[in-house]
Amino acid sequence: MTNSSSPKVSFDNGGEFIRQTRREVEEYLSSRRIRARGRAELYAKGVVAFVVLLGSWLTLVLGHPGVWLGLLSFGGLIFGTSLTAFCVMHDANHGAYFRRRRLNHLMGWTADALLGLSSYAWRVKHNVAHHTYTNVDGYDADITQVPFARLAPVQETRPWYRLQHYYIWLLYCVMALRWQTVGDAAAFVRGNIGTSALRLPRGWDLVGLVGGKVIFISWAIVAPMLVYPWWGVVLAYLVYSMVVSLIMAVTFQLAHCVEEADFASAEELAADRRLWAVHEVETTVDFCPRNVVLSWAVGGLNYQIEHHLFPRVPHTHYAHIATIVQRNAERHGVRYVTQRSLRAALRSHFRHLRTMGRRGVPVVLEMG
Ligand SMILES: [Zn+2]
Repeated sequence: MTNSSSPKVSFDNGGEFIRQTRREVEEYLSSRRIRARGRAELYAKGVVAFVVLLGSWLTLVLGHPGVWLGLLSFGGLIFGTSLTAFCVMHDANHGAYFRRRRLNHLMGWTADALLGLSSYAWRVKHNVAHHTYTNVDGYDADITQVPFARLAPVQETRPWYRLQHYYIWLLYCVMALRWQTVGDAAAFVRGNIGTSALRLPRGWDLVGLVGGKVIFISWAIVAPMLVYPWWGVVLAYLVYSMVVSLIMAVTFQLAHCVEEADFASAEELAADRRLWAVHEVETTVDFCPRNVVLSWAVGGLNYQIEHHLFPRVPHTHYAHIATIVQRNAERHGVRYVTQRSLRAALRSHFRHLRTMGRRGVPVVLEMG
């Protein structure tokens, strides 16, 4: 749902590319054995994520660890949180974790209780704004960081963007902190994310929002303060939050905010109506498909093309689905890009930021 003042963006559904791809994916998932294996892998990852997170937290808060075990547990806390975000929260909020909506929302609530972010707002920000209008300026909140950074060619230029490829990493570090503190609240007051409407939560949604914040603050701030000095807890919390935020932001940005991805404005899409599935593939890139460890840890977010086409399918199936999508993309002339390594993906993100920062800078400034 979008505000009436914004230009209307809509896509054409269908097209032979997605019809054939869907047919083949449905055929692959028609096997009960394959579906069961995908779910078992998904749930096993969830157990690992929770055990690492809880084990690390208990060691830190109740275990009186020395320096080395303390640092190891602190790393475990960061790793466990990232795993929860990528492999549990993201799938659940897409409705891919269980069959029933309510159970998915309950598991998606790990965003509130364990990450400090509202799952209710996340579903609008991520599922609606980002997934429906990928890389569309003004619609997709993930590419809107104005006036701090320019991520899409249609956005206005500012002189300070020339340095954005250096300072943006700091911005990525404070994103989680922003959402945990004022970001969610500001979005509720504004009533929208991008151009997607965000209603005030009511009933169980409100209970989840408030209860989640209370639980998050209790385990992340209050309980540690009963054991450690307040300034140590604040410092540790800031480091923890910044590292988790950086890992999350970079992982999501590598799929869309790179040289190889397409961007569009609402006006361009109004003038040239596109097939939604083709738009999703061409605004997204996969990375490191052969890196088994990375694929496991980022919850299939390195297979974002497949994720955008099939967000309700558990991510444990994406590696196989990628072969189907790639084959059909070639067959139907859809541009399908894969970065071979994490280094290549990071370089592409860096170069994209540098180019976006430079382009269109007034001549006076360009000449120094
Ligand atoms: Zn998603």
